[in-house]
Amino acid sequence: MKTGQEYKDSIRSMNLEIYIDGDKTKNIVDHPKIKPAIEAVAKTYDMANDPELAEQFITTSHFTGEPITRFQHVPQSIDDLMRKVNITRYCNRQLGMCSFRCIQNAFVPILYITAKMDKKNGTNYHHNFIEWIKYVQQNDLLGCPAITDPKGDRTIAAHEQPDLDMYLRVISKNKEGIILRGAKLHQTGAVFSHEKLVIPCHTHRPGDEDYAVICAVPSDAKGIIHVSVRHPQDDRYGENVEIDLGNIKYGVHECIVIFDDVFVPWERVFMCGEVEYLAAVINMFGMAHRPTTGGCKTGWADVLIAATELFAENQGLATASHVRDKITDMIAITETMYSCGIAASARGIEMPDSGYISDPVLANNTKYYASKAVYDLIRLAEDITGGILACCPSEKEMNNPEIAHFMARFLKGVDTTPAEDRIRLVRLIENISWGLGSILHSATHGGGSGQACKMSIAEFSKMEKMRQQARDSALRLCGIIK
Ligand SMILES: Cc1cc2nc3c(=O)[nH]c(=O)nc-3n(C[C@H](O)[C@H](O)[C@H](O)COP(=O)(O)OP(=O)(O)OC[C@H]3O[C@@H](n4cnc5c(N)ncnc54)[C@H](O)[C@@H]3O)c2cc1C
Repeated sequence: MKTGQEYKDSIRSMNLEIYIDGDKTKNIVDHPKIKPAIEAVAKTYDMANDPELAEQFITTSHFTGEPITRFQHVPQSIDDLMRKVNITRYCNRQLGMCSFRCIQNAFVPILYITAKMDKKNGTNYHHNFIEWIKYVQQNDLLGCPAITDPKGDRTIAAHEQPDLDMYLRVISKNKEGIILRGAKLHQTGAVFSHEKLVIPCHTHRPGDEDYAVICAVPSDAKGIIHVSVRHPQDDRYGENVEIDLGNIKYGVHECIVIFDDVFVPWERVFMCGEVEYLAAVINMFGMAHRPTTGGCKTGWADVLIAATELFAENQGLATASHVRDKITDMIAITETMYSCGIAASARGIEMPDSGYISDPVLANNTKYYASKAVYDLIRLAEDITGGILACCPSEKEMNNPEIAHFMARFLKGVDTTPAEDRIRLVRLIENISWGLGSILHSATHGGGSGQACKMSIAEFSKMEKMRQQARDSALRLCGIIK
């Protein structure tokens, strides 16, 4: 298994490049706006190598019998599903942000659907996908789920869009493989992932066969172009500051990935044109991925709660009853998010030819709840932190000899703690709330918008026996039926 350093070296040795701040750079690993995110991933590799964490992080590949990290494991039990939630919470609590290790959530859906397609059509997708998972496991690779298309006019089918590349598509096929054209947006960790696992974001209909493509592409394949996004406050990375970063060790990173006629050999293709299977695989991906929110956002929130509590202590408000009450509300919200993820996992089901997947209604409910709950968390953190959260001078003012003594006096809380400690906490709360490492955007749209989760809740609920039982009860209890 790779150490953090080996992971960084492996990324350095790839032929990766990105457009960022008006320039093209090949030095991904040391770029000030990307490095903090790479350090976060490296930390997860180091955690997996820590003997004290082995029980949590390491398992056995059911394909090869070799030890692998849980980040590359295909869940084979309910316990595996729960451990995924727990390990994500643990990682994110160490990092104070995203840990970039979600690729395995796509494994069961694709294994399941490829087996189904192969049985019906005699294709070889299932074998191809197993071989790719084994490759990822044996080389301890970081994968990025590349799902979100630009989509253009949301109401128009892919093949009717004025620009046919608004959804990633296959523009040609030959004996050796396929050629991809289009783009994927909002890609977390894509530029420092070894592999991109391309999946459609939409349940395309007949007519859109060219868009029904699932495949794996190395991040440095010819024709892949990365374009960095801007985050609120990311200029701070270039300002030679530390305190103002909030999280001085780790950061997030997203980019656009353009597929400028990228060749993919057939052995890396897991669906090509079978549009009728898309709804199942996309719905299943939601079921597999969304319970992770119960670990992901909670790990983040754990740090936000701690920072807010420490800040309150710094203001002399540790025992103020309304502060205790609000901190308890923050804990309650966080534990509800966690309970949703655990409950979805606990009601997991075994799928043929693949592994375990979480309960569909509870899985989608986890993400839907989190997409709203984080706003309450941040409201409470801001309430407790006061105006300083929005009105804090920069660290450069704190270091300016002409005014540093004023800053040291007037930015202080209790007399026993230096102003700098208080401001460090403010910046961390700012970072997690709406700054460089914000939980908000990731909770609102990452893993699918709240509305997408809600639509799935409505659909899957209809299939639940208890809904019919409840309707019968309602009719019986009010006397419409006997
Ligand atoms: C921080 C972050 C990280 C992310 N990481 C990844 C990643 O690693 N990989 C990846 O593939 N994606 C990633 N995403 C993308 C994420 O999955 C999408 O943002 C999400 O699915 C919503 O899609 P969208 O952004 O295109 O918004 P839109 O689809 O434009 O949605 C905007 C609004 O329009 C509504 N809407 C959309 N279509 C319709 C319609 N036809 N009719 C009615 N209403 C509609 C939606 O419900 C929503 O309210 C990330 C997003 C964020 C914010």
